[in-house]
Amino acid sequence: MYEEEIRALSVKILGEVEWIIGYAHGTLPFRARPFLCQKKEDVTQLTFNHFCGHNLVKYLLDRNAKERKVAIFAKACDVRAIMVLIRERQVKRENLVIAGIPCYGMVDRKKLEEHFGSVRPSDFEWHLDSFTFRGKTMSIGPFLDATCQRCLHPNPPLYDYLVGQEVQYIPRERWNQNALKKVDTLSREERWTFFAGESKKCIRCYACRNACPLCYCKECFAEMQRPYWLSGAATPNENLLFHIGRSLHMAGRCVECGACERACPVGIPIALLPCKVEELIRENFDFEAGVNPDKEPPLLTYRENDPNEFIR
Ligand code: SF4
Ligand code: SF4
Ligand code: SF4
Repeated sequence: MYEEEIRALSVKILGEVEWIIGYAHGTLPFRARPFLCQKKEDVTQLTFNHFCGHNLVKYLLDRNAKERKVAIFAKACDVRAIMVLIRERQVKRENLVIAGIPCYGMVDRKKLEEHFGSVRPSDFEWHLDSFTFRGKTMSIGPFLDATCQRCLHPNPPLYDYLVGQEVQYIPRERWNQNALKKVDTLSREERWTFFAGESKKCIRCYACRNACPLCYCKECFAEMQRPYWLSGAATPNENLLFHIGRSLHMAGRCVECGACERACPVGIPIALLPCKVEELIRENFDFEAGVNPDKEPPLLTYRENDPNEFIR
């Protein structure tokens, strides 16, 4: 998808930037991998498809990347993460060339296997919002990652170059309008039971945190010795504390990219928690992270005349 355009653009900008951060085909089927392109002869390795779920923005936080001018191929949610990092002064806009990619969503390989049984890449031909499987064309909607089914912003809100054409619909309206509302239909106790049950499966590998482009603290509260918040033991209570603490740290900052959930080796729908917090922030403060650079994040501002007492 977009391969010719991506490669032609890369040749054009490689003089202007030292590195291009993009995707290459993975070594396993239905996988893509991050790829650092530094030479024009390597641009043929760059690709983009429905399996480019990694949020590459994490690589912009690397010390070596910060010292260079780099270009990045970024899906809409990845660009939202860049906008948050610019506001938080973690990356410099002038050091970045953003090649924004309008996004039709990432396909969940497990959903393909559940539906078709064992699958081979040669069985599929991929289009923008559909695919052909052994001659039969189907919509990608039911096979998308849960986070992509609830996506509200498929087009990059900021870019220097746009790859392809803008997506003309809002994925959540088409694929899963009630995704987060479902959590609301649970009683408080049922919601607790649900999240507690999921967090019991957690092995505290921190892959979710490490994949998140906005979890960049040098020392995570989960591993601090002073103050000592929680142990490394993967017990149900400590796991819950870690996930609740992390989702509170993400409040008003999470860009709903789903990278945390894709990274989880035990299949916990872990993005649900920060994404639900973002939904509450959207409803209560009319704010979405990384969408409008002129809007102040509500949890990073205060008014001395705030009617609530906690501020005084
Ligand atoms: S959340 Fe939206 S922009 Fe991000 S990968 Fe999914 S569909 Fe694309
Ligand atoms: S918490 Fe998850 S969904 Fe939110 S920005 Fe981080 S990786 Fe993306
Ligand atoms: S990636 Fe999954 S198992 Fe690992 S810490 Fe996160 S939720 Fe737990």
